Amino acid sequence: MNTTKKGRVFSGARPTGKQHLGNYLGAIKNYVALQDEYDCVYCIVDLHALTTVEETLNLRQNTMDMALDFLAAGIRPQETIIFIQSHVPQVAELHLILSMVSPLGKLTDLPTFKDKVRDQPENVNYGLVGYPVLMTADIVLYKADIVPVGIDQAPHLEYARETVRSFHYRYNTKVLIEPQMKNTEIPLVLGIDGERKMSKSLNNHIEISATPEETIKRVKMMVTDPNRKLRTDPGNPDICNVFTMHKVFSSKDEVAMVNQECRRAGIGCVDCKMLYARNLNEALAPFRERRNELAKDPAYVMGVLDDGANRARKIAEQTMREVRDAVGLP
Ligand code: SF4
Repeated sequence: MNTTKKGRVFSGARPTGKQHLGNYLGAIKNYVALQDEYDCVYCIVDLHALTTVEETLNLRQNTMDMALDFLAAGIRPQETIIFIQSHVPQVAELHLILSMVSPLGKLTDLPTFKDKVRDQPENVNYGLVGYPVLMTADIVLYKADIVPVGIDQAPHLEYARETVRSFHYRYNTKVLIEPQMKNTEIPLVLGIDGERKMSKSLNNHIEISATPEETIKRVKMMVTDPNRKLRTDPGNPDICNVFTMHKVFSSKDEVAMVNQECRRAGIGCVDCKMLYARNLNEALAPFRERRNELAKDPAYVMGVLDDGANRARKIAEQTMREVRDAVGLP
């Protein structure tokens, strides 16, 4: 570990393929920024994806697309470990050992498990129940000090901390690190429907690697102030998602202009959207250029992931030696 940094951060992301603006603003930007202060271990958690049938359909391509987006966005593989979860088999072993100190009642009581049971009643598998145990194994295997989590993942991290304490108590040891939660304010990025969180499954998303033309097309579909039916109707930018996104991607002057002109019908929604689309395309242009270059060289990307897995395996094997010893495995 680099001793000039504050500690080790771990985060896992499910391989959902090409990332959208919600992923970018909610997670990837934060991943990139954390590298300045922490030793970072970022894992594409393909084993977690197996709990949901749809996510397994294009698992390899989705994993590759996600890695491309992460690297193009600024993850620095020379210092950060980026790898694929299943390339470090020790995680499955630790998952099994930790499952011995994981009360079933607690696991089935977690809100995320209940959500999954509701979402996929036809496929309530054992992996879903053990999801937080595997997540705990992910974190503690790499001796992470800190895990950045949004409010919805907080119960899982608390579960991980409890599991570490239970393990220590059961085996009278202190070999694992109880991870700290780094509360991350994840901005709510609405989809182009202007109502629900941006999500691929809802098809209300804008991919960050889309072409400028595709981006314009998706921005044109964005729902605006519903009360503004005619060009001559004044609008209310405070309830319009286009305005929210202007605040992220447009200059201060442009935001002020839209704020003023929308209210007195001085600007039409089409022009307002085109201004946002232009600024969005400009902001994403360097990322897209890097991504296109990386996509031409899949061997390089696989090499980065292999190198990450090698470095991750070294940490993992050291942890497992200590764990096996603590448990008393021969
Ligand atoms: S002018 Fe812009 S901010 Fe106002 S309602 Fe139309 S798209 Fe929204």
